[in-house]
Amino acid sequence: MVTLDALTQWIREFAKSIAANKDQLTDLDRAIGDADHGVNLDRGFAAAVGAIDEQSPSTMTTLLGDVVMRTITSTGGVGGAGGALYGAFFRGMAQAAGEVRSLDDLAFAAALRAGLTELVRLGMPRAGDKTMFDALAPALDALDSALAERAGLGTALRQASIAAGAGRDATVPMLASKGRAARLGRRSIGHQDPGATSAALLIAAAAAVFEDGTG
Ligand code: ADP
Ligand code: MG
Repeated sequence: MVTLDALTQWIREFAKSIAANKDQLTDLDRAIGDADHGVNLDRGFAAAVGAIDEQSPSTMTTLLGDVVMRTITSTGGVGGAGGALYGAFFRGMAQAAGEVRSLDDLAFAAALRAGLTELVRLGMPRAGDKTMFDALAPALDALDSALAERAGLGTALRQASIAAGAGRDATVPMLASKGRAARLGRRSIGHQDPGATSAALLIAAAAAVFEDGTG
């Protein structure tokens, strides 16, 4: 069972993790982009946590859509391609989750899947393009498989997080074919994708929250 409180914890945990890894994300983006991924995400998700504290959203759609998605896509939010893509992810999640205060494990997994679908609709990434998709897609596949085998949510998210980390690492030898890094052509090879790195942190944050037994 995923409560509103647990999802709020997830966003807080992700914001903390982004802040702690801000320099690494920015350095990765310096190598194959424009050195703003860490700074941008930190600004946007700190603002999202502030908005949660201010507005105390009372349903999943309000939390994920009206508060998180709206904050990270507004002026003073994340900005850049990363902002639009994370915005799409949270919009998809918000629409799927609905005006409820809790979700069962499968509905939560379905909401994450809907988030990925929305991100794909916007960015059109495919496997191997060296983007956040390369961390998120294997993570959500691992989550679905674990839940289908009746694993608890904490265990299933831990497996998802391991898959996200492997997906992130697998971006190193890839040739970027989406976003800013694609302009580098073969010079993008040998660098870890910043978006895949932050996306792995998003899934790791969920695993940390639900393994604690909050959900
Ligand atoms: P910008 O490139 O505008 O500076 P960010 O630095 O915030 O945006 O984010 C860059 C990340 O966005 C990349 O590392 C990659 O993972 C992701 N990305 C870029 N374009 C796409 C796309 N079309 N589809 C999916 N992800 C993408
Ligand atoms: Mg950038």
